[in-house]
Amino acid sequence: MLTKKHLLILALALAALMLARPAWPETLPSSSAPGGAPSMPAQLVRILPERIYKVPDPGRAYTESWIASVIVGEPSQRLDPQRLEVRFFSKGVLLDTQIFEAAAVQALPRDIWKLSAATPAVSTRRLFHIESSFDLHLRFSRPRSFETDEMQITVYVSDDKQKVVALPPVKVPVEIYVQKTRLIFPWTGPGMMSQGWFNNGGHSGQSSWFAGDFLGLTADTWGPQLRNEDKNDAYAGFNRDVIAPAAGVIVAMRNDIPLNTKVNEEPPNEFFMTLHDPIEALLGNYLVIDHGNGEFSAISHLNIGSISVKVGDRVVQGQQIGKVGNTGSSNSPHLHFELLDGPRPFVSNGLPFQFSNLNVGRLDRGTYFTTR
Ligand SMILES: [Zn+2]
Repeated sequence: MLTKKHLLILALALAALMLARPAWPETLPSSSAPGGAPSMPAQLVRILPERIYKVPDPGRAYTESWIASVIVGEPSQRLDPQRLEVRFFSKGVLLDTQIFEAAAVQALPRDIWKLSAATPAVSTRRLFHIESSFDLHLRFSRPRSFETDEMQITVYVSDDKQKVVALPPVKVPVEIYVQKTRLIFPWTGPGMMSQGWFNNGGHSGQSSWFAGDFLGLTADTWGPQLRNEDKNDAYAGFNRDVIAPAAGVIVAMRNDIPLNTKVNEEPPNEFFMTLHDPIEALLGNYLVIDHGNGEFSAISHLNIGSISVKVGDRVVQGQQIGKVGNTGSSNSPHLHFELLDGPRPFVSNGLPFQFSNLNVGRLDRGTYFTTR
């Protein structure tokens, strides 16, 4: 029989136990957590991109990197992230576990995933937001020798009642992308990569993780400018012919965005709002080529009126298709290239790429190169 004294001891013991334990369950796999989160189905946690590709880190022979966004819940659900556990595997063997405690979770970037259907047409903000209770953006850099090929992510959340529960773990492969299309660089002559991939001082966003920005250089001194003046036509690459990096069909294009007359300054949001589809207009004049194998080349910031092909046209590799400009979200004449798994910049997934006709083995930020 339980006396008041027994109850007090029991309560003290329980309190001591709770103080000694972390606030989250130590292990709560979905199969053995009947009371853990009955209202939280497995699809509550989504990992994007759907396929995660790892790439070597520039300048570092020993590590490779990848990105993953953890998207949890829906806007109507009040869930707050409390803890993340990421388990890394190679060939089915657990290598190690990375724990993100609450403070680390709070420090992770958020709201940078993809174009939301709810993004107003007159807003260039929150481009990369996806509807969710929250999203967390993760970047991993790990030894190549580990040959990581799979991750398991467990998200711990608190709900309205401040109860912390583990959501069902999600496993995702981490792959090396094998490029299908043999691409040539979209111009002839020297250039420099001024912005690289997500792990190379560069772009972010669903279609742009692996994007590259390229400045044209003069043929003799490989300088970026013909003369020291902040004008478009002072740039060596300005109006350079842009050629199709591989054969395919034009599936998207735009040719009406005015040239940015100020160099070293991006146009303000108000400028884009005066244009049709201000989000698309961030690309400037652009085109997308469908290579017919699940890969699409997207080239942007071309000069106004310079695109000489239209949607539906079939192009051959090396065919002249436009001219380098300074349009859209651009502060000087340059070419932005991305390889996509679909026809829609901002929405399709970016893919790692290399060009086959350069004098350098691979492109990193700051690499000077020329075409062969
Ligand atoms: Zn760019």
